[in-house]
Amino acid sequence: MKITEDLIIASNNKHKVVEIKQILGDFFKNIYTLSDKNINVEIEENGNTFEENALIKAKYICELTGITTLSDDSGLEVEALGGAPGVYSARYAGEPSDSNKNNQKLLAEMKNIQNRNANFTSVIAICYPDGKTITAKGATYGKILTQAEGNNGFGYDPLFFSNDLQKSFGIATAQEKNAISHRGRALQKMKEILSKQ
Ligand code: IMP
Repeated sequence: MKITEDLIIASNNKHKVVEIKQILGDFFKNIYTLSDKNINVEIEENGNTFEENALIKAKYICELTGITTLSDDSGLEVEALGGAPGVYSARYAGEPSDSNKNNQKLLAEMKNIQNRNANFTSVIAICYPDGKTITAKGATYGKILTQAEGNNGFGYDPLFFSNDLQKSFGIATAQEKNAISHRGRALQKMKEILSKQ
């Protein structure tokens, strides 16, 4: 791949931006965030899957700017809840998004449920100005705890016991989590795809 292209990340989340720059930085000339380009838009994520939502965001910003755009969509899927909260993870307990309320709702839904298997999934999408798109998916597996453990991370992290780390994402350091996270794995897959282009 020729390193002549700029990239916009369709996110202002600092943690995501740092991780994306670390893993994919070598493939692009300049990497911008939405705020670098003074873009302030609400994009309706009305897809039924993480892929659909990631592509909706990437295509929207790519068409708006004419610059190659990367987006990600992610969430928690709980086996015993038929994959919920899934694409509704951010707004599981209603809008505006509130992690404490989401976690309380998840604990209530999981009360007395024995099967606590769950995964975080992330889909990274890239849209090019010629309309071409690529997606890469990553997942990480674990169990829903019966009470929060730790304050690290964000969202459902304190309720997610990682099979890989054998501890909650709320206790794990950012470095430990990034090495095995859904987003880290999706970004590594995207790196492989880009290096073959
Ligand atoms: P988004 O893809 O950033 O919109 O994330 C959707 C929602 O999924 C977040 O608001 C969190 O509730 C949840 N989520 C996604 N990734 C993680 C994670 O790594 N830890 C905890 N919660 C997450």
